[in-house]
Parts: sequence; C-alpha cells; structure tokens
Amino acid sequence: MIHLRSQREIDLIRNSCRIVVEALELAGSLIQPGIRTREIDKEVEKFILSKKGKPAFKGYNGFPASACISIDEEVVHGIPGQRRLQEGEIVSVDIGVVLDGFYGDSARTFAVGEVSLQKKQLMSVTKESLHFGLEQARDGGRLSDISNAIQRKVESARFSVVRDLVGHGIGQELHEEPQIPNYGPPNSGPRLKEGMVLAIEPMVNAGDHEVKTIADNWTVVTLDGRPSAHFEHTVAITGNGPEVLTVS
Ligand code: MG
Ligand code: MG
Repeated sequence: MIHLRSQREIDLIRNSCRIVVEALELAGSLIQPGIRTREIDKEVEKFILSKKGKPAFKGYNGFPASACISIDEEVVHGIPGQRRLQEGEIVSVDIGVVLDGFYGDSARTFAVGEVSLQKKQLMSVTKESLHFGLEQARDGGRLSDISNAIQRKVESARFSVVRDLVGHGIGQELHEEPQIPNYGPPNSGPRLKEGMVLAIEPMVNAGDHEVKTIADNWTVVTLDGRPSAHFEHTVAITGNGPEVLTVS
C-alpha cells in the first residue's frame, strides 16, 4: 500500500529532511584529502542529535553508522571507518533522519579536491538524471515515468543505471512502498497521486551496471571496479507539482 500523506504529515517529513540537508552540507564541508570517513560520520551524528533527530541508518538491519559513505567504485552502503580520503576520489554520502516519527533521506556525491573529467561528468549526469526523475513526480503520472526519465538521461551520456537497488516511498518508515527502479519503460506501474512522498535515488556507474556486495555484507561495489555516483532527494507530490523536501 502506498501512503497518501496529509499536509501535516508532509510538514513533519520536511522537518526531518531539513536536518538531512544540513547534515549533508556539513559532511560536504569536511570532505578533503586526509580526513577519515569515520570522522565525517561522527560529526554528522553529533549534528543530527543536536537537532533532536535520530540517525535513521544507525542500527537499521544492524548498520553500524549514521551516514553511508561510499568511495569511487563503492556504489552505496559504505561503512565509515579508518580510511582517509584522497585527492581525486569521489565520495557518496547518504544520510537519513527520523524526527517525531517521520523520516527524511537524501544523498550526494562529492569530489575530493580535483577529480577526472569523467568523474565530473558522472556526478553531473547522475544529479541531472535525478532532476529529470523528480520532474515526473506528478499527480496523474505513472511511477515508471520517473524510472524512464532517469534511465534515458543516464544512457544518453553512455553511463549505466544500477538495477539491483531502487528508490522507495518514505514517511513513517525509512523504506515504504512503492519501490522505484531507476530504469524501465514509461507509462506503467502505479498511478502517482497527490500526497505520495518518494525518495528517488539514481545510482549511476561509469562502466557496466552490475554490482556486488563485498565481505563486510554492506558495501555495494561495481563489478568492473569503475566509479559510481549517487544522488537522492525526498519529494512530495503536491497539487502544484513535485515539491523537493530535501532542500535548505
Ligand atoms: Mg538514502
Ligand atoms: Mg533512500
């Protein structure tokens, strides 16, 4: 069942989303060569708690940290640790917050110092594909219109969309129905309705779309070892079109 949220519920989700955005901005401000991913996670956690929120990922199916931090060929669900960032890497940071029983979820990929032209393109195409997807989050459309818009943008740039992981509904749970693949034909799946709140999150690989989970049981990496980028927003479908909630 796909929940339709009242204005009051959307306001509560927006409050969580605001903390997510500020935490992402904090993470971005800390990203530089030499910092350990664990230090970024600690600052993110401290910030979320200072806003009376709870880090939504910590303890989720046993995930041990507040932020997912994934470097280069790591697609998503990277566990922060002792590793130090290096110039030329790209770093995806994914943060979820729950406040007053409602969730927000957003992710961005950052460059560490100067990165290759291909990595820059990968990041900008992934971000643009998210915006194409968000644009389809409209009352009366179909769910796969979002998926298709993302896939077309990504493949027109000759990158590939990860198939094994999807976006999701969000609200009183971190992951609610529907699942939102980042690929597929247009005009199928559930009808989109005012009040739906969705976390749309293209994961885009520079090489092939195939991924695997490594021995830590969390980190998803590209099979071919080439880099991957991830951008995510939480969006509400309103009478006036899509309203992105994870903005400052
Ligand atoms: Mg996320
Ligand atoms: Mg998500």
